[in-house]
This record gives sequence, structure tokens and C-alpha cells, in this order.
Amino acid sequence: MNAVLQNNAATAMTLEGVSKLYGPVKALDNVSFELRKGEFLTMLGPSGSGKTTSLRAIAGFIQPTAGRLLIDGRDMTGVPPQKRNIGMMFQDYALFPHMTVLENIGYPLETRGIKRAEREKRGMEMLEIVGLAHCATRYPKEMSGGQQQRVALARALVFKPDIVLLDEPMAALDKKLRGQMQIEIMHITRQVGATVVSVTHDQEEALVMSDRIAIFKDGRLEQIGSPHELYQQPRSEFVADFIGEANLLHGKTRVMPDGVVVEGDGWNVSLPKDDPQGQALTATNTACVVLRPERIRAVAAGSPGGNAGEGVIEDKIYLGVEYRLVVRMNDGGKVNIRSRDVAAIAGMKAGDRIGMAWAPEDIVIIGA
Ligand code: ADP
Ligand code: MG
Repeated sequence: MNAVLQNNAATAMTLEGVSKLYGPVKALDNVSFELRKGEFLTMLGPSGSGKTTSLRAIAGFIQPTAGRLLIDGRDMTGVPPQKRNIGMMFQDYALFPHMTVLENIGYPLETRGIKRAEREKRGMEMLEIVGLAHCATRYPKEMSGGQQQRVALARALVFKPDIVLLDEPMAALDKKLRGQMQIEIMHITRQVGATVVSVTHDQEEALVMSDRIAIFKDGRLEQIGSPHELYQQPRSEFVADFIGEANLLHGKTRVMPDGVVVEGDGWNVSLPKDDPQGQALTATNTACVVLRPERIRAVAAGSPGGNAGEGVIEDKIYLGVEYRLVVRMNDGGKVNIRSRDVAAIAGMKAGDRIGMAWAPEDIVIIGA
């Protein structure tokens, strides 16, 4: 999807300070975000972080303890599920076993009072889109897992809902099929211009399918952004660690005449004074540095200078496309490096001292 267009897209749904309490448990804690028309948003977070509760609140199966939910600008907070124009694909698909594929897909149209001929026409159109036109008269049990999922998706899309909700869409599929269905679902929902909210605990699934990802932790929205934004600009250690692979180094800050240094035992990060990240650090004593494994250069031990570190190689692993090094720092912490610099690494071995270098622009600082 075109990122510029998407940023200007109209708002499909707004959550305003939505909370849900179950006794003392804050399943959702003051969650606010906007969903744009036509976007694929994934709610990502560990088990128990509030993803399903959010989805159920959007669908109307549960009522928030506090906050508001607007769909297309209208307050839908107290409106029952059947009065919201929302499509849902459940984890187990929930297809009707006694109905054919075409009857299953036509069902949401039937409940909306649409006549049989029109139901069959629109059902067949959806079956074409999901590539199952040849299966119209089969029953669900005669279909594979991936095919059943596409039927469930067709049924969730056939009445052109304002929003389609997918709860752990890949949960019932084996690993190999997952990768394939992620791409297919992404293509199908984009082809029909659907606005989608999906839920997963699988980082890769979120990265593959989403325009934006909302990261949940303990019922709170930690951060929302495009996969690229979350990777490049994580605002917390949790997000840095959850999206991609991150080395998190905790150090002390020191303000110098020409900049700010974050340093630990045997490593330092030095940021110029005019760097906004550096400026933000002048008021703190400690900080966390996010170093991505592919952004660290392996250099000879004893190379002096700023933006560098040193340690002992604990493991050196050859993965064909790259080397992976695990380096033990002086303070006992580990740093992972991924490198394709064969010339630099070929001669190094476990037990050797190694130097590391990085560029200030590759560093993300999380104030502590
Ligand atoms: P996720 O889908 O991210 O795994 P949930 O939204 O299902 O998380 O749950 C968030 C928190 O709310 C968890 O601590 C869970 O135990 C609690 N919770 C969810 N539903 C209920 C319920 N019906 N009654 C009591 N606690 C619940
Ligand atoms: Mg869940």
C-alpha cells in the first residue's frame, strides 16, 4: 500500500481511552488508536496482553469499562455486535458443517435479507477471489485447512463490512502453510479494499501482513507504527526486543563539550550535541542503547575510538548467507552480531578478543 496515501486515508475506527476490567485484572488499560480505511493493522503482543479483549470490544461481544469506540465517526460503544457492520474470522473458522461452501459464504447475506440468486452471485464472486470457485458445492469437511480458512475469509468479506477482524488467523494451520496463507490473506484483503484488524503473537506474521502494527503489553498499547518505524524507532526496550532482534546495552551517560557519551565496561556510544537523541540524554544518568546485530561491524581487537566496543568471541556460527557471532563483553553481557563480511571474520575464532564498531546513525537510545 502506498504509505503517503495511507497516511491521508480517512479514519475507519477510533478507540478512545478504552479500558476493560475483570475484577482486579486490567485486561485493557486506557487504549487509544485510530484505524485508517483500507489498512491492515495487526495487534501483536505476548499471551495475556489484551489482544483478544480488544478484538472482542471492537466486535461488540464485550462492553468496555471505560472509553469510547467510534466506527466511521459514530459512537458504537453500546451497540450490539449484529448492529455493527463488522466481519469476523474466528480461530477455528466456525464454518457450518451442514452447509455447502457456497451456502456458508452466503449466510451473512441471508441474515441481511438478501435473496438467494443475489447471494449465489456474490458468493461465487468471493469464491473466485479466494481461488475456490471449483469448490462451491463441497462441504467444509471435504476441504483442506488452508481451503477452509479461505472460505471463512470469504464469508467474513462477502457483505463488504466496514472492518474485518481476524483472531489468530494462522493458529489452525501447520507452519509450512502459514507462510503461504499470510501472503494470500494479505493479497485478498487488499484486492477487495478491506479494512482489517488482525491479532497474533507471531512477530513474523505481523511483519509480513501489516501496514501498521500495534504492540500490546499488560493491557496497554506500547507503540503503534509501520513495521519499518517500529524497527527503526522503538520507544521502549520491550518493542526493540519484540520487533526483530536487538542487543540492549545499559550504560551511564556523560555530557562532554561536543556531545553525549553512553558507556559501559568496554563499550561506548557517542552522539554529537546537535543529535536530538543526544540532547534528550543530557538530563539522564543512565540509558539503554539498542544495537541491531546486523549494524555491528567486526573489527580487530584494540582498535581505538568512539562508537566501539570490545569483548571475547564465545561462538562463531557460519550460516551460509552470513556469520553469527556471540561476543561476551567485559561486564558479562552478550552481544549478537550478524555479518556478511567474510574477509573480516573468516580468521576469527572462539576465544579471540574482538573489536566492534557502529555508526551513531544506527543507534537507538531509550532513555532510562
Ligand atoms: P491475549 O489475547 O493478548 O492473550 P486477552 O485479551 O485474552 O489476552 O487477556 C488479557 C487479560 O485479561 C489476561 O490477563 C486474561 O487473563 C484476562 N481476561 C481475559 N478475559 C477474561 C475474562 N472473561 N475474565 C477474567 N479475566 C479475563
Ligand atoms: Mg488471545
